[in-house]
Amino acid sequence: LLERVRSQAQQGTESRYGRRAHDMQPCLLVAEHQTHGRGRQGRAWLSSPGASLTFSLGLPLDLADWGGLSLAIGCAIAEALEPSSCLAAGQRPRLELKWPNDLWLDGRKLGGILIETVPAGEQRMVIIGVGLNIQALAGEPDTQPGATFNTGFASLSEFDATLDGPTVLARIAPAMARCLRDFPQGGFAAWTEAYARRDLTLGQPVSAGALEGIARGVAADGSLQVDTAQGLQSVSAGEVSLRLS
Ligand code: ATP
Repeated sequence: LLERVRSQAQQGTESRYGRRAHDMQPCLLVAEHQTHGRGRQGRAWLSSPGASLTFSLGLPLDLADWGGLSLAIGCAIAEALEPSSCLAAGQRPRLELKWPNDLWLDGRKLGGILIETVPAGEQRMVIIGVGLNIQALAGEPDTQPGATFNTGFASLSEFDATLDGPTVLARIAPAMARCLRDFPQGGFAAWTEAYARRDLTLGQPVSAGALEGIARGVAADGSLQVDTAQGLQSVSAGEVSLRLS
């Protein structure tokens, strides 16, 4: 993955990744044991040594519009593990996505994607943090305040018992690299169809902050469309948590 993103970034001043992208090196950090994982709004991300795949990919990426990058990355990961092309017509995928940054398996949360940008000289660096449960975690109940569901976590072993962390990383890394390569040009618009197929909340009653309604999918800018009593409203990821009501 590192080699692929590096070669993209080193296209220099002509790079789609920014005029001075060649000044900074992409880096990939994989934690053998993550002790202080976090999700959005400082929520804890739990992991156990040997049972979790947790890594951060940092790379220079000057994007005018970040909308939907976490959705696209989530889609790329899900597609790498469960290609839509292998599903029968009308077959529901087991791996689904919950806006804006969750990966779910069979109705329970399997993983999360956290995208942040940090200043790096005159540019910004994007850090894409991914946490995936590979095996069941040692019994931590999900009792944190603000947790959406207390249904327990899913693990990829339920999907394919032969998967281990390195195998999963090797499978999802090229898919992430392709997603990152193409995102500056195509944005989330290129993923809307793939996302819709895995959209966990599509047609479901949801609440996001004070807003309540029926989820109607995600627009090309990555915003969630919610049908409310006041009409169709767009919700951008920001700090809002989405609840299935
Ligand atoms: P939520 O999933 O509660 O709606 P969110 O999508 O904003 O919130 P994040 O902030 O990305 O979630 O992730 C943090 C939350 O994920 C925690 O509050 C906890 O509910 C859940 N969580 C923490 N560790 C794990 C894990 N290993 N597997 C699945 N879910 C986890």
